[in-house]
Amino acid sequence: MTPSEQRYLMTASTLGGSFDRPPAAGSKDLDTAMISQSSPRSLHVHGADRFLRHACTPIPPLGPGTCRICHGSASTRSGACTSCLQSCAQVPHPCRLIVPISLTEPSGRLHRVLIEYKRSHRGPDRERFSHYLLTLLDHFLEGHHHCISRAAGGSWDLACVVPSTSPELHGVDTLHPLEALAGRAEHIGRLEPGLLERNPQVPLAHNHGSPRAYRVANPTLAGKRVLLLDDTFTTGARIQSAASTLSVAGAQVLACLVIGRVINPFFDASTRRFWTYASARPFSFSACSICHSPSDSREA
Ligand SMILES: [Zn+2]
Ligand SMILES: [Zn+2]
Repeated sequence: MTPSEQRYLMTASTLGGSFDRPPAAGSKDLDTAMISQSSPRSLHVHGADRFLRHACTPIPPLGPGTCRICHGSASTRSGACTSCLQSCAQVPHPCRLIVPISLTEPSGRLHRVLIEYKRSHRGPDRERFSHYLLTLLDHFLEGHHHCISRAAGGSWDLACVVPSTSPELHGVDTLHPLEALAGRAEHIGRLEPGLLERNPQVPLAHNHGSPRAYRVANPTLAGKRVLLLDDTFTTGARIQSAASTLSVAGAQVLACLVIGRVINPFFDASTRRFWTYASARPFSFSACSICHSPSDSREA
């Protein structure tokens, strides 16, 4: 057994589970009844409840094998994944409170939605996919806005979106599709569209971030507390670059909220075990990466 496999078995033991134990039949439970009663945004439109129940994967509690920053798979002794160690070191002001709503694998249903909702062609699929993501975002924030505020030491003044790496896919749309979607969310507070823009003169790759990769369009950011949003988190290079840009402009980036933390189960054995363990647990709106994690989740 390799050291990484041992760490994952320790995680399973700590959490009272086993990586080798199959999930209980019918264990996916979305707390549908509770949410339907408490929020006007219907989980039943376009079958969102059914979709989210099967497409979302819960964020495991912190422990050995889980990155304390992005809550992905970590095989390093530091408790953070290689991507976070790298992306946080590449910028002067990284944000260490990353709040993913769900894990997502590249071949999974949530991942397909996270890609397709941004395509420029309009149609029933795009409308349906946007509804899924809006429902997911809004119900999550309804339940866990206070968790983020508590962990960050206060609530945010405004929210903004990390600019797209492929704006040509949006076609004639002037807003990032996530901005259009988040602007309809009831629990996100004030959204500032177009606050960040891509600086095309500075390269930005999956594993290479830079605080100059983005520019701030609004110069009056000093002292503003910001919630940074993105749809997917793969290595963190983009969102940490954007967080650093905002901080250099005088803002305080309280947290980064991402819909899907991408996990590639085929990356290595430990990631495969991490995914197997996480995906065997039911997704629920009643827990988030903060309220079921130790209070030291912001520590670097
Ligand atoms: Zn990480
Ligand atoms: Zn919570």
